[in-house]
Amino acid sequence: MSVFTSWPPDVTTEQLDQLTLLATTYALSHSILYLPPVSPEKPPPPAPESAIFAPISLIPTPIPRHLFANALTLQRAYNTLYARVALDTSFLDQIMGPGGVSDVDDFISALWTGWKKLRDKGFPPPLHLGLFRSDYLLHQPTPDEPISLKQVEFNTISSSFGALSQRVAGMHRYLIESTGYFGISPLLSSSNLPSNDTIEGLVNGLAEAHRAYGVPDAYILFVVQPNERNVFDQRMLEYQLFESHGIRVIRQTFAELDTTASLSASRALVITRIPPGLKLAPVEISVVYYRAGYSPADYASSTDYATRVYLEGSRAVQCPSIALQLAGAKKVQEVLMRPGVLERFLTPSEGAQAVRDSWVNMWSLDTGAEEAVRRADELVLKPQREGGGNNIYRERIPLFVGLLPLHERVAWVAMELIRPPRGVGAYLVRQGEGRVRARAVSELGVFGWALFGEGREVREEQVGWLVRTKADDVDEGGVAAGFSVLDSVLLVD
Ligand code: ADP
Ligand code: MG
Repeated sequence: MSVFTSWPPDVTTEQLDQLTLLATTYALSHSILYLPPVSPEKPPPPAPESAIFAPISLIPTPIPRHLFANALTLQRAYNTLYARVALDTSFLDQIMGPGGVSDVDDFISALWTGWKKLRDKGFPPPLHLGLFRSDYLLHQPTPDEPISLKQVEFNTISSSFGALSQRVAGMHRYLIESTGYFGISPLLSSSNLPSNDTIEGLVNGLAEAHRAYGVPDAYILFVVQPNERNVFDQRMLEYQLFESHGIRVIRQTFAELDTTASLSASRALVITRIPPGLKLAPVEISVVYYRAGYSPADYASSTDYATRVYLEGSRAVQCPSIALQLAGAKKVQEVLMRPGVLERFLTPSEGAQAVRDSWVNMWSLDTGAEEAVRRADELVLKPQREGGGNNIYRERIPLFVGLLPLHERVAWVAMELIRPPRGVGAYLVRQGEGRVRARAVSELGVFGWALFGEGREVREEQVGWLVRTKADDVDEGGVAAGFSVLDSVLLVD
């Protein structure tokens, strides 16, 4: 019997209690952490006073070995593909500019308009860095079909949980080494755990961009959300940049940057340190790394959009540039899928067919609303948003399409539902909520980076992976959004 019809193996309550003790202690010891929730009644203290462990899965998730290997290989093709898409201005203008999504989506319009202004002034960003994550689900529509891996989406901005996931992979390795999972399955052996060096890998991308900028003393700027709870995932990249490369980081929000950012005569980005009372010298920025800016909620006012564009008008490497952010839109994923479009960006020898094989069908709602309503039960509708909680699933589709103004259909894509094997369960542990057993669906993410710009060879690497697991009666994913827990890969044949 395949593990995908029955997983995990039987385990006693006593064994689970022991695994939970070891897992949560490991999590607290290894920064698998969040800041606690804040609320208007309970605003955050000026400096963190406590942390909680991030939601975790007790037993790693089986993934067929050959599919995992394929996903890692495929990342190189995806890195190249999205770098080329971001450099194809007229392609992106056509889809996202006036006459396309910009006409009906204020968020996309604000980003596109800012980018266009910079181009008109002759200041497109010299170098783009993408820290990417390509997300997949296992797909097996019926039990007698072979399992394959299908792409959910490709993230080009604020791809998160790389650092925490490396630690969770370490946690599962520790549980295997320390308990052997009490012999519940011969598959739970450390030889079936792939290595995970995502932190070093992502940091290598940032360091490569820093070196390309060419000012060793410059700092990398992390643009962050106010009251971000997932700070440790970000800080681990900061610490590794310092420890492996001697590169220093500053973190500021858009609201802070509204007043602290300035451009020198040669358009070097210079940031005033805060608070001013500390009288720290201003710093030059080599790379702007956005862990904010992917959602309209990140821009409190038009000033914040202006600040984003102001930063992008500098010489600093943009991770990502607005072009690269737009390239990661679900609408672009849908257009790439149309006959012959992907093939304009990737040759057969660069893996175009393998990329196509990783897709399920998508189409635009403006040409396929009827089909979307007719086949609602097998579909999800997606707008041009990131970060979870925006999609419309199955039986909600017909009413939604009925109410959506016709001209807004262009900003929505329909996507066939990927259908994971049904026999997999997991033990999900959340601080304050204890442990639950659930039928589970796991999403594999593969990290990569690409550094590119006009007249420069694309440099890119595949650098690591993550797994997020959720109960199978939940449609959405996302750890920060509260749907998923962090997990890791168990390779099976
Ligand atoms: P977001 O940018 O909000 O993360 P996603 O495209 O990743 O948007 O969708 C959110 C979640 O919805 C995914 O993590 C996945 O769990 C689920 N999902 C998205 N597309 C599909 C699909 N085609 N089939 C099955 N589940 C999907
Ligand atoms: Mg997603």
